[in-house]
Amino acid sequence: MTTSRVLISGAGVAGPALAMGLRRRGFEVTIVERAPHRAPAATRWTCAAPAPKS
Ligand SMILES: Cc1cc2nc3c(=O)[nH]c(=O)nc-3n(C[C@H](O)[C@H](O)[C@H](O)COP(=O)(O)OP(=O)(O)OC[C@H]3O[C@@H](n4cnc5c(N)ncnc54)[C@H](O)[C@@H]3O)c2cc1C
Repeated sequence: MTTSRVLISGAGVAGPALAMGLRRRGFEVTIVERAPHRAPAATRWTCAAPAPKS
């Protein structure tokens, strides 16, 4: 049986969480991170809420 390998870019919250799930399913996972240190907060902000009506 062959082992599928996955490369994940980014060691924020999502990257390691995805890696854990994939490892449990038998994938060989490598995470790369461009920042020299773990950021204390996110590097981006996503807001899906609609703007309030005026
Ligand atoms: C100021 C602020 C406060 C917040 N407070 C909260 C809170 O209180 N509670 C809450 O639930 N959420 C909060 N959030 C939101 C939460 O932090 C994000 O939703 C979450 O961090 C997103 O995780 P992520 O792994 O997708 O991205 P990120 O945490 O942004 O991580 C992405 C990682 O990928 C790396 N990367 C990017 N490009 C590359 C590349 N080409 N190669 C290698 N690595 C790369 C980055 O360096 C980074 O380490 C906050 C966000 C901000 C900005």
